[in-house]
Amino acid sequence: MKVPLLDLQQQLSYLRSDILDAVTRVIDSTTYIQGPEVTALEQEIAAYCGTKYGVGVSSGTDALLVSLMALGIGPGDQVLTTPYSFFATMGVILRLGATPVFVDIDPVSFNIDPQAMEEALANDHARAIKAILPVHLYGQCADMPAIMKMANHYDLPVIEDAAQAIGAECPMNTGPDDLLPAGVTQDWQRAGSMGRVGCFSFFPSKNLGGIGDGGMVVTNDPSLADKVRILLNHGAAPKYYHGLLGGNFRLDPIQAAVLRIKLPYLEQWHRSRRENAGRYRSLFQDSTLAADGFLQLPRAVHQEQRLQSKGAGINYHIYNQFVLRVQRRDALIDWLRSHDIGCEVYYPVPLHLQKCLGKDFPVFSFPQAEKAALETLALPVYPELTGDMQAFVVEKIAEFYRR
Ligand SMILES: *Cc1c(COP(=O)(O)O)cnc(C)c1O
Repeated sequence: MKVPLLDLQQQLSYLRSDILDAVTRVIDSTTYIQGPEVTALEQEIAAYCGTKYGVGVSSGTDALLVSLMALGIGPGDQVLTTPYSFFATMGVILRLGATPVFVDIDPVSFNIDPQAMEEALANDHARAIKAILPVHLYGQCADMPAIMKMANHYDLPVIEDAAQAIGAECPMNTGPDDLLPAGVTQDWQRAGSMGRVGCFSFFPSKNLGGIGDGGMVVTNDPSLADKVRILLNHGAAPKYYHGLLGGNFRLDPIQAAVLRIKLPYLEQWHRSRRENAGRYRSLFQDSTLAADGFLQLPRAVHQEQRLQSKGAGINYHIYNQFVLRVQRRDALIDWLRSHDIGCEVYYPVPLHLQKCLGKDFPVFSFPQAEKAALETLALPVYPELTGDMQAFVVEKIAEFYRR
């Protein structure tokens, strides 16, 4: 049996003709830059996330870049962020001449540790930190209630890197559901809608992926939305009058048209991924591999902490990746690949150890991020994965440890 990490052929088989029609519609319209498909997708994504505005951009990376530009981040500024993420999170900060300030991650969620953030902000006597950039890694929100509390206290904008977490929900009322005051229900807010600005990627492997690169910025701030819109067109307003220095960060209408075909399926895909995660949990439980200390399963912290038995429809985790911690990780990867099972490490090198930082970047140690880089392993969890395939994956992992 062959089990790929991701199989886009499956969804293509039932979406193919709709996608071809959408692409044809754009081609026949001869509107190849921006236009109605982009505008419609912007409105649909904003509505989906619960924000007032959406602005289509060329990629998730450019969503982050143009958001930081719109907030005026530049040389001399510092941005507080996580050392455990995809490179773009740090790359955009450095490209603007700003400096990332890292704090370690929480070992359970792999997301930025609010306690460590609190310390970094309290120690920033020069007030050089000008923004906070949390990442909702693997499809589950960072601790946004704590992060927003700090951001409000220090009056700092929060840019959510929600590239892996479109639709993921976070309980914004602090405390478990049963401790909320009478009559108050848990306020689950979607990724991207809690900070000043949220950034999404439509890279094909994300839960909502295009047929190429694409991204989106969402916000409730009308002046920020306007500024992003101007910046993504070389800072021109009106055309040929460049009040700002921007770039070409526009979303391709072909991508917008294809994403509009896929968006109605997104909730169903999230649900299937969650069901697959649940099936892995019971298969691994039966195997006793976790109990015997060979591996640790991912944890849906917002579900564990707040969600009662109700709320099965809440996207407490969208499982863009299903990431375990495992013993003897690299040998297990070789074993799985030799049995045609796809797997991947997200990410093998924490950001603070990337070579491109050069010799002048101070040496830091973030033990949890470094440990995660050695132990994490993502297994296939895409919506169309079958129960048989999952059983095969777990069986092969058990075979590896018990040989
Ligand atoms: C995918 C991703 C990005 C970048 O998105 P692109 O569309 O590939 O530019 C940024 N941050 C995180 C956390 C990502 O996973």
